[in-house]
Amino acid sequence: MGRVTELRCRACGAGHPVGPEYVCERCFGPLEVVYDEASWGEATRERIASGPPSIWRYRPLLPAEPQEDDLQPGFTPLLRAERLGERLGLRNLYLKNDTTNPTWSFKDRVVAVAVAAARAFGFRVLACASTGNLANAVAAHAARAGMRAVVFVPRGLEACKVLATSVYDPTVVEVDGTYDDVNRLCTEIAGEHPWAFANINLRPFYSEGCKTIAFEVAEQLGWRLPDHVVVPVASGNLFVKTEKAFSELRALGLAHGPTPRLHGAQAAGCAPIAHAHRRGESQVTPVRPDTVAKSLAIGNPADGFYALQTVRRTGGVFEVATDEEVVEGIRLLAQTEGIFAETAGGVTVAALRKLAEAGVLGPQDVVVALITGGGLKTLEAVSAAARPPIRIRPTLRDFEREVLAAV
Ligand SMILES: *Cc1c(COP(=O)(O)O)cnc(C)c1O
Ligand SMILES: [Zn+2]
Repeated sequence: MGRVTELRCRACGAGHPVGPEYVCERCFGPLEVVYDEASWGEATRERIASGPPSIWRYRPLLPAEPQEDDLQPGFTPLLRAERLGERLGLRNLYLKNDTTNPTWSFKDRVVAVAVAAARAFGFRVLACASTGNLANAVAAHAARAGMRAVVFVPRGLEACKVLATSVYDPTVVEVDGTYDDVNRLCTEIAGEHPWAFANINLRPFYSEGCKTIAFEVAEQLGWRLPDHVVVPVASGNLFVKTEKAFSELRALGLAHGPTPRLHGAQAAGCAPIAHAHRRGESQVTPVRPDTVAKSLAIGNPADGFYALQTVRRTGGVFEVATDEEVVEGIRLLAQTEGIFAETAGGVTVAALRKLAEAGVLGPQDVVVALITGGGLKTLEAVSAAARPPIRIRPTLRDFEREVLAAV
């Protein structure tokens, strides 16, 4: 596996040979990839700039070989948000618009890396335990790679998330339980069957794909680091790897300055990491999710322990959003910036607003909010709040009487 020399336990430091493994045999801690740092010299600003407009431009910092025939996710727009910024009192607000990915969420980044690793290990079946978007990405990327896909989701997902997944013809398994039940079942299956579970036995590889969103933010800001990043948090994977990405850029001399303060956004109905942080605890107590933000509904987050360390180390804060605030956040983002986000985006915008109101984000600070998924997959969340169209007959008179006053 080229640049990866071994897997190392995050908890006890024990080394493991490179393979589809994710848990330490000695202490059950999570495994992480270790890079051959000699190859990091390839990561120069010039080499990156001349690379493809996808996650693969950061190739020396990823644990798998670039796939030229994949869906080319990443390199999504970083947009300056003047109107939303004005509403929130932020003069330097940016939105990382990951709704433009091939399956409309940031999960395309991690799945692309998982597919590259799965191919290198010789797997033929790609699988996952998912809250919705991961299943969608696994189904699409497997189709593109000519692999079979088997995706496991909990009951009660948004109809469009399941439909937008089944169109690629994976085997979709709806498990009678929560995401945490799905994840436990898949962990058992992964121990018995030779399948590549993107977020289980390939997790050390998969999770490194999260770093690309932070790499892009830095590159798109002209290799400056922002002061704050607001990140939606489910398992905590994206949150933890965002810190790792910024640290790597500084270690490589690609970007300078302090690590940004990383703020976590969770749904009030599933905020186990936010609660542990508020209570000053170092371990997360699992909860049973009850939120409209189903993509973030993980009650027992795999990276919760490390997410608590990241938020403390970077001087960040956790904010939570009620279902009502999620819908307001989706609408505010759409109405001020023309971006239709899914419920996770609503959670992020609601958290952003609270952080600005509390003065955590200063008016001149450079703030980046990660908008991680598109809104067409969670239409249920906004359908009740949507204004119906004005119905008229095809006459100028109707137009003038019914429409003009409303414009
Ligand atoms: C998966 C997901 C996240 C964050 O997930 P982590 O498990 O914390 O990495 C954020 N937003 C969306 C839309 C997602 O699908
Ligand atoms: Zn260990």
